[in-house]
Amino acid sequence: MHRFFIDRKQEHEISLWLSPEESRHAVKVLRIKKGGLIRAFDHTGCEYEAKVCDIDLDGRVQIEIVTTLKKDIPIGFRIHVAQGFLQKQKMDWIVEKACEIGISTLIPLKSEFSMVNPKGDAIERIQNRWSRIAQAAAKQSGNLTIPQILEPLAFSGALQQAKKSNVRFLFHPYSAKLNLHQAVEKAASKTKPVDVFLLVGPEGGFSEKEVKLADEAGIETVGLGQNILRAETAFVVLAGGFKLLL
Ligand code: SAM
Repeated sequence: MHRFFIDRKQEHEISLWLSPEESRHAVKVLRIKKGGLIRAFDHTGCEYEAKVCDIDLDGRVQIEIVTTLKKDIPIGFRIHVAQGFLQKQKMDWIVEKACEIGISTLIPLKSEFSMVNPKGDAIERIQNRWSRIAQAAAKQSGNLTIPQILEPLAFSGALQQAKKSNVRFLFHPYSAKLNLHQAVEKAASKTKPVDVFLLVGPEGGFSEKEVKLADEAGIETVGLGQNILRAETAFVVLAGGFKLLL
């Protein structure tokens, strides 16, 4: 059965309209018809069986929730990644992978060596695009929860945000105190629920000043081996490593 994203704001909401994009996909590509059954999922980790009750003249699809099929089981570990802002396609790719891997929060990080620094309207456009990418990735991967993508933060803001987590690491190819295995073990040794906050640099890496600030904030540096990985490779290795090994 096909899965569609719904923006369900209240638990008592039974009847909803699919977004124009989801409606177009449902009607034009998948050829769903009035009376047909679909699966729908939302931000809360719920999946529902729903009936198509109307398709209006503009092709918008109205559905009615028939039953809740499953709710994502809460897990003991949540992973939050602050990712140094990368160029457009790479950042889009990271949003997709964050969703497939099952990251809880993705924080676009405006660090000293970030080559991209969007402002104002550009941020809103980017966030809308990421939201569409995340929804599509959730549909494809069967993931019930979509990562929350925060507003871009400066490095100091990310350090503040990191304080909410009880395990915090910064990934840096040089002078690392721990390797990935040791970092995962450290997180695993904490009492659940564990919030793991990971900082990954942009293409140009972190500045020495940023590494020092993180160190002063009690954030340990972690290395991923001798090779310098591209930022997006590092993201998949470390986020996937924590997700699979914890
Ligand atoms: N020349 C840059 C530097 O001086 O850091 C390389 C940056 S690398 C392309 C981008 C980011 O990926 C790094 O800031 C780091 O977060 C992560 N990364 C890449 N390779 C890594 C490694 N071997 N160990 C730890 N982190 C790594």
